[in-house]
Amino acid sequence: MTRRPEMDSETDMEIPSLGRTLRLFGRAFTLRCPNCGGGPVLEHWMKLRVRCGRCGLRMQRGEHDTVMGFAFILFTMVGLAAYVALTLTMLATEETPWDLLETGLPLLVLALLFAFFPLAKLGWLAFDLMFRPVTPQEMEWHRAAARQYETERDASR
Ligand SMILES: [Zn+2]
Repeated sequence: MTRRPEMDSETDMEIPSLGRTLRLFGRAFTLRCPNCGGGPVLEHWMKLRVRCGRCGLRMQRGEHDTVMGFAFILFTMVGLAAYVALTLTMLATEETPWDLLETGLPLLVLALLFAFFPLAKLGWLAFDLMFRPVTPQEMEWHRAAARQYETERDASR
């Protein structure tokens, strides 16, 4: 099987406007494609589809560092949420229930890792698109790569 070389998406860096940033992340955090606002983009909760069902953007943009970025966003989100939960518990209770927190917080973190999983994946894609919007040429590459993927999948049946 010949593999298509990864394409370096060398779009010029762009300073994103606030509106565009909010739109990208708004779409990502409502589980839609950051690029077009459509979908579907999820295969199931823990897995993104290969490409967006509407615009054809590949969910992996052909980058090599997506895992790092995604993990960074996921742990940041989980960390912040756990911190908020801890703070709220301390504010809401007269005497901080450390016993409860000792078991509760790790369980919360596990649940949040699961809950935020697709949000972090799409959030990272949004972050990437924020600085490097998709050009028509790159879009063509995404669609061509998707066609090839489908052909290979059909051939292996
Ligand atoms: Zn899309």
